[in-house]
Amino acid sequence: LQPTADLADMVRERARSRGNAVAYEFEGRLTSFAEFDIKTNKVANALIAMGVTKGNRIAYLGKNSDIYFELLMGAVKAGVVMAPVNWRLAGPEVAFIVDDCKAPVLFVGPEFITLVRQIRDKLPGVRTIITTEGGAPEWQDFTPWREAQNGSDPEVPISATDIAMQLYTSGTTGKPKGAMLSHSNFKSLLEAGGAADTPDWNKWTTDDVSLIAMPIFHIGGSGWGVVGLGHGARSVIAREFDPTKVLDFFETFGITKLFMVPAAMQFVVRQPRAKTMDFSRLKYMLYGASPIPAALLKECIEVFKCGFVQLYGMTETTGTIVALPPEDHVEGLERMRSAGKALAGVELAILDGDGKPLPPRQVGEIATRSDHNMSGYWNLPEATAATLRSDGWLRTGDAGYMDEDGYLYIHDRIKDMIISGGENIYPAEVESAVCDHPDVAEAAVIGVPDNKWGEAVKAIVVMKPGKQATATDIINFTRERIAGYKTPKSVEFIPALPRNPSGKILRRELREPFWAGKDRRVN
Ligand code: ATP
Ligand code: MG
Repeated sequence: LQPTADLADMVRERARSRGNAVAYEFEGRLTSFAEFDIKTNKVANALIAMGVTKGNRIAYLGKNSDIYFELLMGAVKAGVVMAPVNWRLAGPEVAFIVDDCKAPVLFVGPEFITLVRQIRDKLPGVRTIITTEGGAPEWQDFTPWREAQNGSDPEVPISATDIAMQLYTSGTTGKPKGAMLSHSNFKSLLEAGGAADTPDWNKWTTDDVSLIAMPIFHIGGSGWGVVGLGHGARSVIAREFDPTKVLDFFETFGITKLFMVPAAMQFVVRQPRAKTMDFSRLKYMLYGASPIPAALLKECIEVFKCGFVQLYGMTETTGTIVALPPEDHVEGLERMRSAGKALAGVELAILDGDGKPLPPRQVGEIATRSDHNMSGYWNLPEATAATLRSDGWLRTGDAGYMDEDGYLYIHDRIKDMIISGGENIYPAEVESAVCDHPDVAEAAVIGVPDNKWGEAVKAIVVMKPGKQATATDIINFTRERIAGYKTPKSVEFIPALPRNPSGKILRRELREPFWAGKDRRVN
């Protein structure tokens, strides 16, 4: 398919070349590429008719749906920027984001009527449109709002540096930040999958059937959806992640590729039915966003028998910048513990505290430069300047090292690094040692204040049901596997770890009670 200059043009071109093919399928509703082009024209015209103009943000608080993608691309055609809101946030947090991005209109999915009614007075002047007919009598319904318009293209001029989408980071290390992603960011994301020398796992054909299994308020949902559309494939949209339904989707639609986070893969692979199902149509399972336990990856390889690709990236880099291809998923290979190599056109470096590049195998901050880097964070000039340096290098906030062949090994987030007695300790390494204990279901490792060492290593452990290991057992077990200074000094047991929707452990929440009234160093 022809590459296009911007996302609006992409929608128009795919209507020309793939008109009758299905672009999206959502709960039995099919939309062809030609219909999608018309619907998005109508959405663009409806926004313009409301006085929403180029550069404005609109907000969407809802689960995955075909309407979300219509709104996203309709907004793009009007030069308007979609800002999807994480629906797991509490009312005041949602109100903060809608207010922060100055959205004149908020689109609401049926599940969130009550929440939005509660925060309505915090959003003066914001119009509310409900995506389900008659869901909230006091608000306008989406379909008549769209259908009141004609389907002609508003032909709003767009340039490569215009912002196409404002996606909030996952909020693992602090408040979510609105990463502004431009048309040229998405162009490079799409081109990475379309070039002649593209590895097979990143190529798409129009026969591909993609599953959008992750929430659209993250790059793993929205970005994945845009890529499928851009390659003229069929995308099946899952309203929300449900492991049983993922298996149903495989069976019903013959899904050929999908992206999931490791926490989601675990739920899918542990479904008893998965062991006996036929996954021969599944070509690639792409995964990333947090570290994957080795045992889980092994189990998935055995059950799904497809190609596996690990992805490393972040919202700020429009998703993937590093990938570990299927041929490196070989048991016993050192590389299998890495996140892979940089995609074509992506530069990577490991920097020391002064920003100087480090040689192979030395741990420092991962930095990257490419057309995938965002334009900046919305309304946060200081955070933007700290992340996106004037030389074009983006500081990821992740610690890691590269080997001689350019494979990237991720250690952890720099903010979560523990400094105890002057030694740097990466929680992920300690967690992995603690989790090897047969009685442990999951663990998080944090630094707590310590008069002698500055910080002391503490493990917060969730036990497998009915298991008895004591704190001392776990400490002794870990001491045999990792250096003494990395071994937890204390262990606490809790019923479940706090996680965000991407399945990332919220170590800052676990740290909080220990640091009340004290200052933890800031990296
Ligand atoms: P916030 O920036 O708000 O704290 P976040 O960093 O979790 O949240 P995202 O942009 O969704 O928000 O996630 C990007 C981060 O996820 C990366 O910086 C990295 O820490 C982690 N990550 C991504 N891919 C991988 C991977 N393959 N292995 C380990 N960690 C990964
Ligand atoms: Mg981040």
